[in-house]
Amino acid sequence: MKYVKDYECTLCHKTFPKTSTYMTCPECGELGILDIRFDYEQMKKEVNLDYFKNNQEYSIWRYLPFLTVTSVDPKSTLSVGWSPLYSSSYFEKTLGVNKLYFKDDGQNPTSSLKDRASIVAVMKAKELGYDTIACSSTGNAASSLAGNAAKCGLKTVIFVPKRAPLGKLAQLKAFGTTLVKVDGDYKAAFTLSKLAINKYGWYNRNAAINPHLVEGKKTVALEIAEQLEFNVCDWVCVSVGDGCTIASVYKGFYDLFQLGLIAKIPKLLGIQAKGCSPFVKAFNDSCSLKESKEDTIADSIAVGIPRNPVKAINAITKSSGMMISVTDEEILSALKELGAKEGIFAEPAASASFAGYLKAIQKGFILKSETVTVIITGNGLKDTTSALSAFKEERNVLPNLEDLQIYLKENIR
Ligand SMILES: *Cc1c(COP(=O)(O)O)cnc(C)c1O
Ligand SMILES: [Zn+2]
Repeated sequence: MKYVKDYECTLCHKTFPKTSTYMTCPECGELGILDIRFDYEQMKKEVNLDYFKNNQEYSIWRYLPFLTVTSVDPKSTLSVGWSPLYSSSYFEKTLGVNKLYFKDDGQNPTSSLKDRASIVAVMKAKELGYDTIACSSTGNAASSLAGNAAKCGLKTVIFVPKRAPLGKLAQLKAFGTTLVKVDGDYKAAFTLSKLAINKYGWYNRNAAINPHLVEGKKTVALEIAEQLEFNVCDWVCVSVGDGCTIASVYKGFYDLFQLGLIAKIPKLLGIQAKGCSPFVKAFNDSCSLKESKEDTIADSIAVGIPRNPVKAINAITKSSGMMISVTDEEILSALKELGAKEGIFAEPAASASFAGYLKAIQKGFILKSETVTVIITGNGLKDTTSALSAFKEERNVLPNLEDLQIYLKENIR
């Protein structure tokens, strides 16, 4: 918190003192999402290359000066962040591209990038004296909030749409949440959570609304930069639902750029599922966002009314990036390739970013000479039903070598 300068409304650009507890701009209402601004001149005095060299903390708390959390005992929280950045020699060779990296954020404690936001929400709620946090989510924000809150002794009330995949529901139950399965889609869950939060006075973890969460999520970009020794890649690919994640990736690189630690901000490729792509439509037709249907297996990015449009669009335009969409078939094909060639099991919303990368290379939007990091935002165990739908079911083998031999002849890979 010590380097926070003030809050700025992303719509009317009015600023508010850092002591204010507004979630959104009181004048613009819900779309007046606040951006937390930092005093980079002060921050530079602490955060330089030596700061990273001497830092022994390999978790999100490595980046405490970049966050709005006041203080923390790292052992008192789940270990979020510092996920691996893999280089992909297989795809570099077969696609003939320069450098390709996978940032596997499915390795977070509750298996998605959302942990980076949830842990910050939990710390802010504790600082402010709340005992209950609530959110609505397509699944990952929910399970991640429930897990991180459980570790820190806070209660959670979670609103999920009825189509939330079983893996995520199982996580929620295991983490002891009060689960509200809303008879409707994500929009319905979001609306009910908003009414309930107002009525019961719980802390609000809804991602777009709460400006602290983007600051937590941005640590994925800080890590990518540090793992590349501050020699950042040309592009970063990330899937887009509400738009908070892509906004946070931009914010992380923006911070480092302001601090003079990186020479450029990577271009951002935002990927949506064809069956729910309001951002892509708005970009292609240069019009404002229109509500979209939510028709895709990539449940985590099935967001018909994105809640963070302004920050997300800023991230793409300011980074000179672009948006594309991919079909469910492409998402599943990317899921198989990632698993079989990289050993990374991604949920559909996460393999979507790789599918988007493949399409961007094929169409020439990303040049083969450019270096790229693809963020894998969530683990495949979250949604095994969708993963299995990509494969045919194999027959049972009789318990003898003869049948095994026949089977292997047909099936060996
Ligand atoms: C939430 C989520 C996203 C997209 O993040 P938004 O902030 O909604 O754009 C992408 N992938 C996974 C796995 C997610 O859980
Ligand atoms: Zn405003």
